[in-house]
Amino acid sequence: MDKKLLEKCKQRLLEEKSKILERYFEKEETQQRLGEESKEPRDWEDIGQITYTEELLDSLSQVEMATLKEIDYALEKIDKGVYGICERCGEEIPEPRLCVIPWTRYCAQCAEEVEKESGTFMPYYGIDMYSPDNIQVEREDIGEA
Ligand SMILES: [Zn+2]
Repeated sequence: MDKKLLEKCKQRLLEEKSKILERYFEKEETQQRLGEESKEPRDWEDIGQITYTEELLDSLSQVEMATLKEIDYALEKIDKGVYGICERCGEEIPEPRLCVIPWTRYCAQCAEEVEKESGTFMPYYGIDMYSPDNIQVEREDIGEA
């Protein structure tokens, strides 16, 4: 995959993640509870490493939460060098699609197929896979009540 495009997609992923997290920060004003690493939400590298607390997860909508998981998953794929490949047919996902949905797992055609098969309305968000029950919560930084 083209290195420039890869960098662009990575930036977009981190931006999207940052946007979702910043909405939470603004809403709750509990930024300090998320620990040292998140005090500068615009630091892209730190955004990649942020810890999800229970409070954070509680405040997000299901779609936001699912999107965060998909973004992390996509970032992981970038690290592993498998980003931008459709998980269903193994073909490269076209650049215009990646620019619109940088965390997508499938090419447009496969996304349609997966949607038909699974019956979910947003297959690439992985709504079914990432129900709140399946999300592991790090509690280290919020302490037991
Ligand atoms: Zn495909």
